[in-house]
Amino acid sequence: MFVPRDVYGVVRPRTVDEVRDIVRAFARTEDGPRLQALSTGRNWGLGSREPARDGVVTLELGGLDAVRELSVEGGWAVVEPGVTQLRLAELLSGTGRMLNVTASSGHTSVLGNAVDRGVGLRRQRTLDLVGLEVVLPDGELIRTGWWPHGEHPGAINPQGLGPSPLALFTQSDLGIVTAGVVRLLPRPEAQCVLRLGFGSGRLAEAVDELRRWTAQGLVSGVLKVYDPVSTRSYGGLGDEYLTHLCVSGTERSVAAVTRVIEEEAEESGLFTRVLRSDEHPPAPDDLVARAVERLYAGDPSRNEAMLRSAVGQEADRVDAEGGGWLFFLPLIPFTGPSVARAQELLDRVHAETGIRPGSTVNALDPDVVDLVVSFRFPRTEHHARQAHRALDRTYELFAEAGFHPYRLDSDHHAWMDRFSGDPAARAFVRRLKETLDPRRVIAPGRYA
Ligand SMILES: Cc1cc2nc3c(=O)[nH]c(=O)nc-3n(C[C@H](O)[C@H](O)[C@H](O)COP(=O)(O)OP(=O)(O)OC[C@H]3O[C@@H](n4cnc5c(N)ncnc54)[C@H](O)[C@@H]3O)c2cc1C
Repeated sequence: MFVPRDVYGVVRPRTVDEVRDIVRAFARTEDGPRLQALSTGRNWGLGSREPARDGVVTLELGGLDAVRELSVEGGWAVVEPGVTQLRLAELLSGTGRMLNVTASSGHTSVLGNAVDRGVGLRRQRTLDLVGLEVVLPDGELIRTGWWPHGEHPGAINPQGLGPSPLALFTQSDLGIVTAGVVRLLPRPEAQCVLRLGFGSGRLAEAVDELRRWTAQGLVSGVLKVYDPVSTRSYGGLGDEYLTHLCVSGTERSVAAVTRVIEEEAEESGLFTRVLRSDEHPPAPDDLVARAVERLYAGDPSRNEAMLRSAVGQEADRVDAEGGGWLFFLPLIPFTGPSVARAQELLDRVHAETGIRPGSTVNALDPDVVDLVVSFRFPRTEHHARQAHRALDRTYELFAEAGFHPYRLDSDHHAWMDRFSGDPAARAFVRRLKETLDPRRVIAPGRYA
């Protein structure tokens, strides 16, 4: 679905020492192939396993799959790249902690998603990442951020003291991640998910109202608004805008806040329906609502049904046989006019290319929306070309509007300069690369 690169082979190390040996061996040759690391390689919609450049050997880290340590009391787990979100979520089942899971397959990597700066149902995944174990381009092994040491691990402090290199290793061409410390969220005692519908004529007003509730602390986790195309793409029901909103806390706080939201919704006159998960559980064929409800509670076990509905295949067969799927992932201000403007841009993409992408608002906080724009199409060359034309046009139109992406697919890394505000800051990062990786051994061209 993306430009296929020359990949010379795949290496599958089983230990951290093997990773270090491989990196050292590649660093010895000046013009040899370079290394692109993957965790589980399920970066669907963004290029899956495709590197950003030709001439690469893929370093597949799925075989490093230990949960090295887990502290329910402390709220952290030390995991390797092959640990999937389903496995960690199952380990936490019945405990007072949960994982901030994503809507992708349960068989995706906890770390792979976090180092690519994915988004979970509770918050951005980078907020879960407090420590990283990294093999540097010369084979040296370092641990950045916070790591539990001995019997008294103390309180989590991702920044440590002084300059913190933690962020240098997400969306990074500076090292290969062999383990990470991931935060585990306190499991709420109670939860209610509200599903609110509204017509497209009320989009800006409804978004402003939802923003107000978010800013006033009524909403737990990432509030979602699906447009009708997006609802259908993921296997949901309905032909209007659909909001999923989670309220969690103690039994009494959830009951009280849910009632407040029902009253606010009623008073606003904006919503066509307000359904509570405890009184109106989603219909058995509403795959989105059924999955999302569990996802807010840290349980990705219903994601495979949603994945099958989106791309028509199980996780293991998505890349070989699944339907076409592309993502464009901009951040936009959480305001009614901004969300309405984004919809106008997508309508323009439709008018110009014949493809109407779906979009889902993921409200990360009261000011920022991760707008997940998805292109779903039949897996033929003709449709893929058409979808990529629409994707390119979306990049153009959103860039002009100042709505920049926070993640890039494997075909669009050359856009880095265009989306970076300060050339001097870009030059600084390139200087770091030159110093740490003069032979450009790691992830050539990726976010570079
Ligand atoms: C229907 C559907 C729903 C989705 N929902 C979501 C969602 O809710 N949230 C979301 O964020 N995404 C979502 N995705 C996109 C994607 O599937 C996930 O982001 C997925 O977690 C990425 O694949 P992965 O975990 O296997 O990571 P990988 O593909 O292994 O890694 C992603 C990238 O990170 C880098 N990387 C990975 N591991 C390492 C390492 N050890 N060292 C150095 N660099 C590394 C590489 O550049 C790699 O290409 C969805 C996709 C689909 C089709």
